[in-house]
Amino acid sequence: MPELGQSAVDAQDLALFEGLLAGNRRELAKAITLVESTRRDHALRAQKLLDAVLPHAGRSLRLGISGVPGVGKSTFIEALGLYLIGRGHRIAVLAVDPSSTLHGGSILGDKTRMELLSQRTEAFIRPSPSSGSLGGVAAHTREALLLCEAAGYDIIIVETVGVGQSETAVAGMTDCFVLLQLPNAGDDLQAIKKGIMELADLVVFNKADIDPAAAQLAAAQMRSALSMLHPASPNWKPPVLTLSAMRKDGLVEFWQTIEKFRTTLGASGEFEARRRHQALAWMWQLIDAGLRSHFHQAPAVMSELQDTTAAVEAGRMTPAEAARRLLDISAG
Ligand code: GDP
Repeated sequence: MPELGQSAVDAQDLALFEGLLAGNRRELAKAITLVESTRRDHALRAQKLLDAVLPHAGRSLRLGISGVPGVGKSTFIEALGLYLIGRGHRIAVLAVDPSSTLHGGSILGDKTRMELLSQRTEAFIRPSPSSGSLGGVAAHTREALLLCEAAGYDIIIVETVGVGQSETAVAGMTDCFVLLQLPNAGDDLQAIKKGIMELADLVVFNKADIDPAAAQLAAAQMRSALSMLHPASPNWKPPVLTLSAMRKDGLVEFWQTIEKFRTTLGASGEFEARRRHQALAWMWQLIDAGLRSHFHQAPAVMSELQDTTAAVEAGRMTPAEAARRLLDISAG
């Protein structure tokens, strides 16, 4: 069985590969464009590049950050990024934005959102890919994450808006999932789906400068709500913090909490276990997608599909029988 790192990159991508490993931002951006491409020849080159890159990836902390538009994600990520650069880190910011795939527009906007951070050579900011399904966008972001790690970024932030399945996708590719909230004490809690709260390793109420008492109250309510849920980790009770991204207040405590999280989950083995689990889940997602595409491309299926779907719609065939027949055809 071929091992990772043994497959050579395409000759035309050698400079790209070397530039990437040297931490060159331009080469990194080009490599991400290659993996996002829908062209078949690009996909083959991208796969070789990713195989070659993988042994150099993995040495970062992957942080997922989710919150509704306006909660302060870009303000927070910019403040946090600049703080971490000051501590000697290199930061990459990636995005999974379901709106960009649905309308071609983006809730998360582009990199001008984090103007100060984007000017720093220690930072790399990449907007969400703007085509494909959410699954496709998430897969590209996952690959971009590996490329950023190989380029030497040691903290990768993947941000998303609180819409649909995107939180699950981001939690499934990061080590620590942070839920950013507004301190509208009380009624807001009901709006957060239980399933999303259970993904959180840490909940942060931003804009605490506006009404500190309301922020404290919201945090207390969130603590009690979380205590009734099934936590994401058996070794970690998700803390609830308040901060002000605008005033850069609470960033130190936030980062201390993240470091404590890493140490705690590292000591129990859960940190590595999560990554192993995520890698396997990703493999199965790719298998599902591959089977689906194989099914739709099979000529025998294409010729039968219309009649069979019409038969199911007209009630002449049961869905189960139709599915069985089509699967048999695609396999044969
Ligand atoms: P995003 O859509 O989640 O990325 O939110 P933004 O970072 O663009 O912030 C939305 C608005 O909230 C902007 O006008 C920010 O200046 C403001 N904002 C962000 N963080 C804070 C904060 O901590 N306190 C206050 N008062 N305003 C904030």
